[in-house]
Amino acid sequence: MYPWLRKEWLNLLEVARAGRLGHAWLLLGDEGLGKEQLADALAQRHLCQQHIDDQACGHCHACQLFSKGNHPDLGRIGVEGKSIGIDPVREICRRLGESAQLGRGKVVIIEGAERMTEAAANALLKTLEEPAGDSLILLLASQSSRLLPTILSRCNKHLCPIPPESVTLRWLEEQGISATPSQVRICRGAPLRVRQYLEEGGDAQRRELLSSLCRLPEEPSRLAALASSINGDLERHLQWLQLLLADALKVQAGCPAAQLNMPDLADPVGELARQCSTERLLDAQQGLLAIREHCQPGQLTNPMIHLHQWLCRWL
Ligand SMILES: [Zn+2]
Repeated sequence: MYPWLRKEWLNLLEVARAGRLGHAWLLLGDEGLGKEQLADALAQRHLCQQHIDDQACGHCHACQLFSKGNHPDLGRIGVEGKSIGIDPVREICRRLGESAQLGRGKVVIIEGAERMTEAAANALLKTLEEPAGDSLILLLASQSSRLLPTILSRCNKHLCPIPPESVTLRWLEEQGISATPSQVRICRGAPLRVRQYLEEGGDAQRRELLSSLCRLPEEPSRLAALASSINGDLERHLQWLQLLLADALKVQAGCPAAQLNMPDLADPVGELARQCSTERLLDAQQGLLAIREHCQPGQLTNPMIHLHQWLCRWL
């Protein structure tokens, strides 16, 4: 189990040992924390035929089937697809109502549960209200606000916190990945997201894009190219820009470089903080929020027009 989840697992195990596990859990936490491991550990414990120290033994028939991903009493809805419709939810609820094939109980895991449509959530609600005696329902989500209050009220909740930066950096190092505090912070401290971000290899682009923005008043001819770069991965780049502006505001407030979101850009950010008034930085932040709002997926807006206007205000 990931080192930052071990304490979480012991807490949950404590609840299980006290017989207070109940039928439904919502595991909450940012993407990239690996909370699927907690769900799997709870599921395997529930299905194991011969517990050792109250945990799954790892070698009984049920544990072997679980490890191979084909335990007949485990239903799982994975992270594929933008939404979870009513059909797969109905199907796993139907299976929960049947008797367990291996006799130990049944488990359902729904990853990214906030993707459930209202109809799907309502279908699940009926099962949550009257769960079969031996069933365990595990929902995983990063945002509880997107779940129906009726679902929330019927689940026990466990919040997985972001680990301390030192834990993330040490774990990445053990994986042979050399990361900087900036890289951890732009991934909001979620270790698996940092690993993915570095494997995708876009970090040089972050420094280039953000340095370009800081230099824009000196190189106004780069405006069109910069707008185009930002538009290349709009949501991610808007988030970087927000962090950059927040850093410039921090510098103006006297914050030391090590405490910035991106200490590796302390020099260009320092320059930005000298060139722009606080009002102008705040205005730019508002502008970014407006672009994000105008350019939500499905809206017929050309982000390039908004980006051009926003960048022109820098000149
Ligand atoms: Zn076992």
